[in-house]
Amino acid sequence: MCLRQLLQSSQLQRAWRAAFLKHVQGRHPGAWRWTHSGGGPYRAVIFDMGGVLLPSPGRVAAEWEVQNHIPSGTIVKALISGGENGPWMKFMRAEITTEDFLQEFGRLCSEISKTSVPVDSFFSLLTSERVAKQFPVMTEAITQIRAKGLQTAVLSNNFYLPNGKSFLPLDRKQFDVVVESCLEGVCKPDPRMYKLCLERLGRQPSESIFLDDLGPNLKAAAGLGIHTIKVDDPETAVKELETLLGFPLRMAVPNTRPVRKTMEIPKDALEKYLKDLLGIQPTGPLELLQFDHGQSNPTYYVKLANHQLVLRKKPPGTLLPSAHAVEREFRIMKALGNAGVPVPKVLDLCEDSSVVGTPFYLMEYCPGLIYKDPSLPGLEPSQRRAIYTAMNRVLCKIHSVDLKAAGLEDYGKHGDYLARQVQTWIKQYRASETSTIPAMERLIEWLPLHLPRQQRTTVVHGDFRLDNLLFHPETAEVLAVLDWELSTLGDPLADVAYNCLAHYLPSGFPIQPGLSDCDLTELGIPTAEDYFRMYCLHMGIPPIENWNFYMAFSFFRIAAILQGVYKRSLTGQASSATAKQTEKLTEFMSNLAWDFAIKEGFQIFKEMPATKPLMRSHHTWSLLRTPGTRSYVTSTDSSPAHASKGALIFSPEGLPHRVRELYQKLKEFMERHVYPAEPELQRHQVSAERWTPSPLVEDLKEKAKAEGLWNLFLPLETDPKKKYGAGLTNMEYAHLCEVMGTSPYAPEIFNCSAPDTGNMELLVRYGTEEQKARWLIPLLEGKARSCFAMTEPQVASSDATNIESSIREEDGFYVINGHKWWITGGHGEVLFEQVRVPKENIILGPGRGFEIAQGRLGPGRIHHCMRLIGCSERALALVKARVKSRVAFGKPLVEQGTVLADIALSRVEIEQARLLVLKAAHVMDVVGNKAAALDIAMIKMVAPSMASRVIDRAIQAFGAAGLSSNYPLAQFFAGARALRFADGPDEVHRAAVAKMELKHHS
Ligand SMILES: Cc1cc2nc3c(=O)[nH]c(=O)nc-3n(C[C@H](O)[C@H](O)[C@H](O)COP(=O)(O)OP(=O)(O)OC[C@H]3O[C@@H](n4cnc5c(N)ncnc54)[C@H](O)[C@@H]3O)c2cc1C
Repeated sequence: MCLRQLLQSSQLQRAWRAAFLKHVQGRHPGAWRWTHSGGGPYRAVIFDMGGVLLPSPGRVAAEWEVQNHIPSGTIVKALISGGENGPWMKFMRAEITTEDFLQEFGRLCSEISKTSVPVDSFFSLLTSERVAKQFPVMTEAITQIRAKGLQTAVLSNNFYLPNGKSFLPLDRKQFDVVVESCLEGVCKPDPRMYKLCLERLGRQPSESIFLDDLGPNLKAAAGLGIHTIKVDDPETAVKELETLLGFPLRMAVPNTRPVRKTMEIPKDALEKYLKDLLGIQPTGPLELLQFDHGQSNPTYYVKLANHQLVLRKKPPGTLLPSAHAVEREFRIMKALGNAGVPVPKVLDLCEDSSVVGTPFYLMEYCPGLIYKDPSLPGLEPSQRRAIYTAMNRVLCKIHSVDLKAAGLEDYGKHGDYLARQVQTWIKQYRASETSTIPAMERLIEWLPLHLPRQQRTTVVHGDFRLDNLLFHPETAEVLAVLDWELSTLGDPLADVAYNCLAHYLPSGFPIQPGLSDCDLTELGIPTAEDYFRMYCLHMGIPPIENWNFYMAFSFFRIAAILQGVYKRSLTGQASSATAKQTEKLTEFMSNLAWDFAIKEGFQIFKEMPATKPLMRSHHTWSLLRTPGTRSYVTSTDSSPAHASKGALIFSPEGLPHRVRELYQKLKEFMERHVYPAEPELQRHQVSAERWTPSPLVEDLKEKAKAEGLWNLFLPLETDPKKKYGAGLTNMEYAHLCEVMGTSPYAPEIFNCSAPDTGNMELLVRYGTEEQKARWLIPLLEGKARSCFAMTEPQVASSDATNIESSIREEDGFYVINGHKWWITGGHGEVLFEQVRVPKENIILGPGRGFEIAQGRLGPGRIHHCMRLIGCSERALALVKARVKSRVAFGKPLVEQGTVLADIALSRVEIEQARLLVLKAAHVMDVVGNKAAALDIAMIKMVAPSMASRVIDRAIQAFGAAGLSSNYPLAQFFAGARALRFADGPDEVHRAAVAKMELKHHS
């Protein structure tokens, strides 16, 4: 069952429900051309099953593989593997049981794809009700063939189901003969199969036509003298069959059927009403058919005299006030028709329930073409482009309607459309939620916070997509826009985004075919971005920046709808395979939505102007430096000479606007997400699961990406095109990094933790493209972690020349032996024993380690210092709150002189260290990492011990509580203490500072 049908079962699913008007459309009469009439020489039509009457296993497999992340083509390769004696053919001849087949087939698939393949799930899908459904075009054709007195047969390579019955999801009554390989023990293309079928039909080969999708099967039939049709697409095959048979195989009005018993309407009353309305005296009877779909608002084809009409009515029974609003549909179509938008011409709204039982409206039946597949098979690239351009233009036309002139000002609420929509769909989702879907949770939080600031209000269609448009059969002209059920007043960009959904879905997608795996350039179809730009151009508006928000919202909405469908399928009639499938689709859609949220986060970087060190009179400090002398001047001088050297921005308020926004966002994120998560993260850290990544951190990482708070560390100098990160200067990042330092968990959440930052920078600078693809990209995406293994237990490792590990070349490999410890990423102890590393993995080349180490000793080295400032700030903030409320010896602690002195000391020490950090970062920005060696050594010498002292005082002020895990102070203290040698011992930095000082001043 397709999603459309699933959705029709509930009035909740307004968005995808009852594509009523499309079902009222047919082909342009001119499209039918009959060569001759009667059955000609043919007396029987023989159909293959999979690929002709039903979707082929190959097509089902393609869709399934995408959803299950199985390499594409695995199933098909396994199906043909082994030829006659492969598991598939053995299964078709019933030589092996389903169980044996699945086992052997699964093994084969796993061998082919080098991954485990859950073939059971493929088999369930292949045989599920949803997938194994006869193509309606074939049902129509079979009805017509039999009506002409010709015979029909199924000739299928088929198998037994575990229940002992053969897999035949067809109405047997449609066929005179059914021949199945599993019953006969032989398979096509063995001629015996065809002969058996002809024998049972009592026909000669020349009297028969055989349809199959596989070349070898057709070849064998043709060899016997049977006329053959190769089926690539059922519709085209039926056309070919029509030509051969010489009579039409399609209903005069496609997608219609005799009126269902429960849906009958009084013909006499309707005829009388129509006579009055149209002012006619017909001679013939009124013809009434029902469109296949549209149970929510039953829809009928009505023919009276030469008038072809469509009647759409409310269903009987008690209805929700806002649902089934046929009056609204009538109103909008009438108004838009008058405003020049192509819509079916509406004739009358009848609110008198006595005529056909409920209110209804009438419109003209409008023949034309509906393109259901967005890849537009069978058309030329130029035709495809024309179709997409026409669709784009008609959407612009809808969005350009003057509300006042069209009398539609009160057709919906003005403003806040998206805010209301987001809330509506959140509510709908919550009402049908069955389990927690992480992407949905993140979206529920993200969407309301990222609503576009400015929204226009126009008519919005609400379900605007290619298959809701009726095209002229010969030109790219939109004759009518259908399905106005969801129309209202709202933000037009929501329609544009929704119109692009198919671009992101694979071609074999179950709900609707998509385009994500198609070569759009070759097809001549605009990409989503091109399509969106085209819209802006046609509308005369500037390109919209937050396009990703609209896409995220559109997919979120679909995911919420699908969740409703899934919930109902649990209680309703749907098979478990169908339910499972819908559940997966919900997740799939929500993940797609979330991908757009992340893109929106990265968009923030792209928008940011590349920052140059700025000159500011407030909050800044310009730096003049001549070798050997240092002079810092609080400056208001903005002369070019000074500006080129840049300015030291020592408070976040002085940061450029965009960076300040990031800073603000980061602070908010810390408040909203990181601090509240600390108790849980601390629990994880001491639990048995601590060796596996915390799911909460993984979730927060996703959120950080979507906020554009990701990879902020990569300096502009290393990544000038902002290919990988935000392109901040070291000084700008220092302000942000300080904020991250306020929680020990934050760096990982923002993908800014050591030693990954240094390693990523190293790969950006020195890695080959292959190395970047293999190691840098997963690190940048937060999907991998890295380490830096230097320290060895047996030698004093603060002196790198002591290192004893060995590396030697052997057969194109480097072989490593050594013993390391304190390797961050778990601070593990690691033994390298005969570790063979392919030679191509070496970065830059042998003997160039020092060069790399120099590079690595760049910005990454002072990130810890930046964070230590933040950590100290938090410790001081905690102290201030604590000592105001805690009373000892009759007064709050804050009134004790020693406490005040400690606070003052901490404040001063933090400020001193911060200035030194900022200065080091600034010098790196303006004169380079190498020239900043002294500043880097100074801050590394100062920051860890400063933080240790500040935190130590904080612990003291807290009393024993300061050592407990109720507060982060003990953890902070351990961290700061470790950093007094983790980044090289204080003494080593001191020695470096002293050496440089002596050199400069000797
Ligand atoms: C939390 C943590 C994380 C770490 N992560 C990593 C990692 O990811 N990768 C890695 O390779 N290592 C890592 N280390 C190890 C760290 O880099 C080393 O501990 C550091 O380089 C010191 O080496 P060592 O322990 O061998 O001390 P030693 O070299 O034995 O030195 C001991 C002490 O001697 C003194 N000393 C040394 N040199 C001098 C000098 N020139 N003048 C005066 N006194 C001196 C200092 O007081 C020093 O603390 C980590 C350590 C910690 C605590």
